[in-house]
Amino acid sequence: MDDVKQRCSRCLMPNSFPGISFNNDGICNQCLNFKGIEPLGENLLLRTLKSRKGVKYDCVVGISGGKDSCYVAYLAQEIYKLRTLAVFYESPFYCHLAREKYINNFSSD
Ligand SMILES: [Zn+2]
Repeated sequence: MDDVKQRCSRCLMPNSFPGISFNNDGICNQCLNFKGIEPLGENLLLRTLKSRKGVKYDCVVGISGGKDSCYVAYLAQEIYKLRTLAVFYESPFYCHLAREKYINNFSSD
């Protein structure tokens, strides 16, 4: 059992996390120091990706075989019409079902 006496009231990070501290409201230093990013927008991203000349692919998508990465690859390839390189790393821990899904749904290069 870990020795959790406090968790961040915003992100639930436990006090056992190295270097963590909490303010009086129970919010951790990780949350307090987090600086979010301002999204520049889908149109600018697509314009930037499609404007590159002399490259074989517009983007690279890492495929784990899970629904999230497959959906991103689907969006890139089918919805946004990007020249997409889907990359799958066959680690010793990969799921056989994931590999089957990868091979059945993507062409390879
Ligand atoms: Zn937090």
